[in-house]
Amino acid sequence: MADRILHRAEIVAVGTELLIGDIVNTNAAYLSRRLAALGIGVYRQSVVGDNPERLREDLSLALSRVDLVITTGGLGPTTDDLTKETAAALFGREMSLHAPSLARIEEYFAAIGRPMTENNRKQAMMPEGAVIFENHYGTAPALALVRKDGKVLVMLPGPPREMEPLFEEKVVPFLLTHTDAVLYSRNVHIVGMGESAVASALPALLDSENPTVAPYCVPAETRLRITARADNEKDAAALCDGALAEILKSPVAPFVYGVDVPNAETALVRALTEKGLTIATAESCTGGLIAKRLTDVAGASEAVAGGAVTYQTREKVRILGISQDLIERCGVVSEEVAREMARAARERFAADLALATTGYAGPGGGTEKEPVGTVYIALAHEKGTLCRRLSLSPLRDRDFIRFAAATNAMVDTLRFLNTRATR
Ligand code: ATP
Ligand code: MG
Repeated sequence: MADRILHRAEIVAVGTELLIGDIVNTNAAYLSRRLAALGIGVYRQSVVGDNPERLREDLSLALSRVDLVITTGGLGPTTDDLTKETAAALFGREMSLHAPSLARIEEYFAAIGRPMTENNRKQAMMPEGAVIFENHYGTAPALALVRKDGKVLVMLPGPPREMEPLFEEKVVPFLLTHTDAVLYSRNVHIVGMGESAVASALPALLDSENPTVAPYCVPAETRLRITARADNEKDAAALCDGALAEILKSPVAPFVYGVDVPNAETALVRALTEKGLTIATAESCTGGLIAKRLTDVAGASEAVAGGAVTYQTREKVRILGISQDLIERCGVVSEEVAREMARAARERFAADLALATTGYAGPGGGTEKEPVGTVYIALAHEKGTLCRRLSLSPLRDRDFIRFAAATNAMVDTLRFLNTRATR
């Protein structure tokens, strides 16, 4: 249907913080770059404060001019977050509770161990008929409204670390159903090399217009989204494959752990299952997060033997049988203790491999030699034990340090399996 094809877009960034200059509108820059890659021209960018009348005016004007309007910000739980409500009023839609979103928000709070406050329910209130994009990176789901005349309003949350992956993973596929060109894309997953280092290692690719290669951040990873446009799928796929081959020949290659995989835990469970191997865990600073993430993967029982959370020193001694003397001599956050934990877990769970973590997740704790953000990751296998010291920024919060330690531990295991196969 010709009138469903999106050619022209406007971006509306919502937030008084932007207007008063407290934050820079990086979301508009990001979205403009990405929309250009999709063959959608951006005709205007605007910024409006947290004010329903002015937002309504902006949205209504933008929708009169172009086919696609994307907003960022104002989807949160507080009373100044008004984007959805304003859009609903403009489209003449009632707000109603979206049960799957509420369940997801409740789950999110349970996972981070914080009580859900009443105003968080507001984030699950959605305009009738909205297309909802689940948010795995925060609480506020993103959404789209399609008007009878085919015009589309997409609403994304403000924080870039939520907005970027939601756009790439949910909104791009949605937009593709509304464009005429064939678009094809691939996702390259990178751990151990930050977004700017990746970008500077691939200057020509990042400047390329078709295919485009765009780096974006998800917690503890850098991802590259390759998107190609062509008349048919075969040509678009070939363009993507060319860019992928270049990436896999570049200095970024050693840091790539997967292509088109959902995440590190899924990639690891799949690799273990394929090789008929099992894994166990002995976790201290990650508090069971590795075991949790591995068992989030459907079918994990083939590969995951079990795990122990040995948080206090006493339990490292009692459950894992680590010598008290070793802990006193080397310190509980040390290479020696990590190696022993992995070895003990491998033995006690009778698994082929075992991962162990010990470190300081902060905000308190740490020593001069081993500051907050230091995590030892050990991997016991049939022929020995590998261990590495991961140094994360002490400025990162506890959740991030634990999550990044778990991701690195799983990716280390994947890398071990890959080199083992070729030995
Ligand atoms: P939250 O649920 O976090 O409240 P939200 O969708 O309501 O999300 P806002 O409250 O508008 O979004 O903004 C939250 C934060 O996101 C801001 O403090 C800022 O750090 C970041 N942010 C918002 N808009 C932008 C933007 N246009 N560019 C860059 N960062 C932004
Ligand atoms: Mg907010």
